[in-house]
Amino acid sequence: MSMLVVGAGLAGNAAVEELRAQGYDGHVVLIGAEQHLPYDRPPLSKDVLLGDKDVAATGLHDAGWYAERDIDVRTGTEVSRVDPVRRVVVTPSGELGFEKLLLATGSEPRRLPVEGAPAAYLRTRDDSAALRAALLEQPRLTIVGGGWIGLEVAAAARHAGCAVTLVEPQARPLLGVLGKRMGSAFADLHREHGVDLRLGTTFEGASPVPADLVLVAVGAAPRLGLAESAGLDVDGGVLVDATLRTSHPDVYAAGDIAAHDHPTLGRLRVEHWDNAIEQGRAAARNMLGADTPYERSPYFFTDQYDLGVEYVGRVPREHLDRVVVRGDLAGRRAVVLWHDAGRVLGGMHLNEWDSTDHLRALVGRTVDVARLEDTGVDIADLAASLS
Ligand SMILES: Cc1cc2nc3c(=O)[nH]c(=O)nc-3n(C[C@H](O)[C@H](O)[C@H](O)COP(=O)(O)OP(=O)(O)OC[C@H]3O[C@@H](n4cnc5c(N)ncnc54)[C@H](O)[C@@H]3O)c2cc1C
Repeated sequence: MSMLVVGAGLAGNAAVEELRAQGYDGHVVLIGAEQHLPYDRPPLSKDVLLGDKDVAATGLHDAGWYAERDIDVRTGTEVSRVDPVRRVVVTPSGELGFEKLLLATGSEPRRLPVEGAPAAYLRTRDDSAALRAALLEQPRLTIVGGGWIGLEVAAAARHAGCAVTLVEPQARPLLGVLGKRMGSAFADLHREHGVDLRLGTTFEGASPVPADLVLVAVGAAPRLGLAESAGLDVDGGVLVDATLRTSHPDVYAAGDIAAHDHPTLGRLRVEHWDNAIEQGRAAARNMLGADTPYERSPYFFTDQYDLGVEYVGRVPREHLDRVVVRGDLAGRRAVVLWHDAGRVLGGMHLNEWDSTDHLRALVGRTVDVARLEDTGVDIADLAASLS
């Protein structure tokens, strides 16, 4: 019998690392559909496209690392079904049994029909290598979708000297995540760098844009097929309790697919790097019996041109306009807080790297509204006033 992890991405890799770090000495199997050993995804839309990192350097460990720890990694192996009653998963080469199972199958890009130019998507190492090669040819690039990945690719493509048009149906990029004011800040950033932003229009509705390549970046959908085949409770994600356990007591889920019952934030499905790693670790500890709720606040980072951003928390749409900006938005050095009557829901910085710990301290806590909204009060002093 063994600890079985399906999905050799960020969450799956973190889970097997943690199983061994915790001293578990039984059989550990990590199964991944891709041909590659686990690798990091954030550089795929940043350093790799900018030419600052070879795609091969995104690997998390080499084969020897897993072998030394006696972790049985099976790449190029797609699990077709999970049977939690018989405690087996089905692979092309037969069934594998488990004592505890972690599902970490991640997400896949949503697709759109594209006519007139080749369509590209960005999820995997191979996608990134192909896009990097394409950008070197300086195609006229149309990007569909003004979310994080679309914006990061726009920055890399401008760096490569491509003419870039970005089509986004909402009035501003990232509107549903950051609200109007910060969405405008990202629109300004990309306009200043020469991106032709077509906002408030769909790809189908945009007046024809001559393009040699169309990158479709309209979000990702969690891969839920295995969980559904197993009869687990699923509702837009695999439903897991606070400890990342699914509706079956021996099956856990982590990363992009997990719709987690967060102890303070409620039901949450997070598609971020930090969440995948930390949930992978937490799920591993709970598979070993720790039974501890996962309580971390969502965290995200992005790099575009000379702008570096970190974001902590989760701001419901109805609170996005309650935003306080400290610093110089146009100069891209600022700290931003969203709140509800003094309760800090989210925080973000633009190139103010010393503020990260203060943001982490503030999110989820309630502070005096007048001081919170007084941009003359330093973020460090605001955080210090908590204790
Ligand atoms: C280009 C890109 C850039 C990103 N940049 C950032 C960023 O800057 N900051 C940030 O916070 N987040 C970023 N993210 C998001 C972050 O990378 C994801 O949230 C994270 O990878 C999710 O990890 P995961 O383990 O849940 O899924 P994944 O990393 O997607 O891994 C899931 C794995 O499971 C495998 N799998 C699926 N089904 C099966 C099956 N049936 N059998 C076997 N294997 C299977 C898949 O092939 C895949 O390899 C980025 C994502 C992408 C794609």
